[in-house]
Amino acid sequence: MNFALRAIRATTVSPFRRVTTINIQRRTMQIRSIPMWTGSHDNYAYVVIDDKTKDAMVVDPANPPEVLPVLKELIDSGKINFKGIINTHHHRDHAGGNAETLKQYPHTPVIGGKDCDQVTTTPKHNETFKIGEGINVRAIHTPCHTQDSICYFLEDGEEKVVFTGDTLFIAGCGRFFEGTAEEMHEALNNRLGKLPEDTRVYPGHEYTKSNIKFGKSVLDTPAVRDLVQFCEENEETQGKFTIGDELKHNVFMRVEDPEIQKATGQTDPLEVMQKLRDMKNNFRG
Ligand SMILES: [Zn+2]
Repeated sequence: MNFALRAIRATTVSPFRRVTTINIQRRTMQIRSIPMWTGSHDNYAYVVIDDKTKDAMVVDPANPPEVLPVLKELIDSGKINFKGIINTHHHRDHAGGNAETLKQYPHTPVIGGKDCDQVTTTPKHNETFKIGEGINVRAIHTPCHTQDSICYFLEDGEEKVVFTGDTLFIAGCGRFFEGTAEEMHEALNNRLGKLPEDTRVYPGHEYTKSNIKFGKSVLDTPAVRDLVQFCEENEETQGKFTIGDELKHNVFMRVEDPEIQKATGQTDPLEVMQKLRDMKNNFRG
């Protein structure tokens, strides 16, 4: 369980002129990761809960046998009010569980790209909606991996997270199945890369260990070595790194870095992006 707890220190002066410090624990949005197909596809679904209202949505509940028992427990115990499915893109290992989930919970809204199974609402680029009272969600269109790829930027007070599907992984990015290097450059470096640097990243897969192995083959810096070390000691990396971290250790977000230009033999950012993708596709580290 990954609760975001934030301690707010409030200092008050008592009538007896004694300074008293009290700690108020303010709980902001809660995110629960549900690993799916661990050891093969290594996907993640996520339950996002608004603490105040208990309203919750589930991101990419693709494998019902692994997701539905978790949802059922949360719903039946009164911990959440299940309000909707959010999809990052149409691939089966992301949107393939919608029908089964809707069978259990009919009339649930499905928010996602236009090609997602059973989709009911496709938000426009930069369109916003809420989860409960506290969580503001902004849809960020990132066509490339699929043309219907959407990332979701969530804010609850100071807390900021982004669900990136198969567009941005920790230290990597998705393959360009339906798009171009130009589109991925726009997605990573103009849209996601310009989010606040303290935004925590929740990707659609746990691919960090192999991503950073490739990353280290083209960029050997302290930030890259730190992530290699982190992956030696941790199986899961979702929510542990921010956009600011990605700007340092993700080679696809450093297409103007001279060391990466040298490794790819290219200088134009789009050529660097394409070459990095080709090199990663063929990498057998
Ligand atoms: Zn995909």
